[in-house]
Amino acid sequence: MPDADRHPLLSTLPPNHAQTRRALWMLLALAVAMAATVPAATLPVPGSGPFVPAYATALLVSDLLTAVLLYALTAVQRSRAVLALAAGYLFCGLTVLPWALTFPGAFSATGLLDVGLQGTATIAATRRLGFPVFALAYALLDDDGPGIADIGRAILGSVLATIAVVAGTTAFAVWDDDWLPRFMIDRQHTTPLWDLVPGLAALLSVVGALLVWRRRRSVLGLWVVIALAAWFVESVLLGFVSAGRLSVGWWAGRLYGLLSASVVLAALLSETMALYGRLVRSIAAERRSREARLTTMEALSASIAHEVNQPLASMVASASAGLRWLDRSRPDLEETRTALRRIVDDGHRAGRVVTGVRTAFRKGSRDRETVDLNALVHEALGQCSAELRVNRIEVRTELDPALAPVTGNPAQLQQVLCNLIANAVDAMDAVTHGPRILRLRTEAPEGGGAVVVVEDTGVGLDPVHQDRLFEPFFTTKPHGMGLGLLICRSIVEAHGGRLSMAGRLPQGAVCRILLPPG
Ligand code: ADP
Repeated sequence: MPDADRHPLLSTLPPNHAQTRRALWMLLALAVAMAATVPAATLPVPGSGPFVPAYATALLVSDLLTAVLLYALTAVQRSRAVLALAAGYLFCGLTVLPWALTFPGAFSATGLLDVGLQGTATIAATRRLGFPVFALAYALLDDDGPGIADIGRAILGSVLATIAVVAGTTAFAVWDDDWLPRFMIDRQHTTPLWDLVPGLAALLSVVGALLVWRRRRSVLGLWVVIALAAWFVESVLLGFVSAGRLSVGWWAGRLYGLLSASVVLAALLSETMALYGRLVRSIAAERRSREARLTTMEALSASIAHEVNQPLASMVASASAGLRWLDRSRPDLEETRTALRRIVDDGHRAGRVVTGVRTAFRKGSRDRETVDLNALVHEALGQCSAELRVNRIEVRTELDPALAPVTGNPAQLQQVLCNLIANAVDAMDAVTHGPRILRLRTEAPEGGGAVVVVEDTGVGLDPVHQDRLFEPFFTTKPHGMGLGLLICRSIVEAHGGRLSMAGRLPQGAVCRILLPPG
């Protein structure tokens, strides 16, 4: 089973076309925005130092929230790759703190933490290179195995290790300026050595984005690619386009940094909500289908009762008659034998009904065979002959000898015909005047397949009820169950066919069954 099916998570779901299109538009917007910044990049933004804390706070909150969400995702998926990415965002979020606290002019003229000239730049350098390195780890770590065994310890270890690395870097940067690489000439301007940092970061971002795109083709991977693209733009602006700290290019780079930090957060939040929405909808659909299954179960049990009731009533009547013949002063054994034979026949009929009802609800193509509908009509008429005779119904058949055979379950199809004949008998039973004619017709329709028509001269269909005939439990008969037509239709539809009822002029009803070619 593919991972995406086992865990429909952002880190495993492949992106759809809309998501990929959105990401590509964002890449384009990033490129355009970078080009637009270039002409004014070297202009200073005077007095913008106090904005640094606001920017740092936004970055801190965004990175930490992303880290929390990614750690939560790690806990579910037990993925080493996502764990590395979560640690990356935690690292970025935590390094913002010492960076802002040491930034000259942010909280105080020399920074809150008393560092030398190189301290803030050293922290910035680790942050700048850190994110693409973590992203590379996300791209390269192997996730094919069984996943992290002790996920709680792994997450705790990763959080503690990241805090330790950031604390160590900060202590190193604050401790002694002489040990640090020479990144700054003065508080505003950088040395050529500094240019290596954004250069390397830009290179790592491009390599990282390509690897993530190749190896982690998921919704999360897509947005990490965008974050790396923003990181690339930020690095280029900071390293090669701006004129040192607090210039237009520097601030533009900062905004890209914020964008890079929030893009994965926004994606995580919005895609999680979308997944949640889908989950809610699928739970509702599952509940609906469970209710529908329950209704089917009720219909099934009721239909068994309905179908078996008739032969049972007939068996009781025959048994009572038999007893009466035996109770006579001179028991009539011949009549008793006839009554017993009727009971045996009814018993067989009930057995066939039970088998038929059971198969009616068994979907699929099991027990399918080639069926000659003309022969089936004769069999069904034979089965109902007693009722037809008792109710003095004239039977007329017009069977098309060229009718092609269909593929189906003969027991089910015969059950349909018997049900329709029983309905016709009931409808004609209520007619006191006029002919009682049951007509069964088969014909080959133009589009192929076969049509069976059951026509009667009964009471006909009340237009008020026309729409409700196939509803479960709809009946106009005092002892009806209202399931016969429903079962007939579901059997015919399970065969890929159609069943319809209509009124007939001058009187009666017509039922038409269309079955597809075999
Ligand atoms: P039941 O026979 O238990 O009532 P059905 O589903 O077979 O349930 O039929 C539902 C209703 O459709 C019947 O009660 C009857 O009103 C109507 N109906 C079915 N067949 C015919 C027919 N041939 N002529 C007139 N009405 C019919």
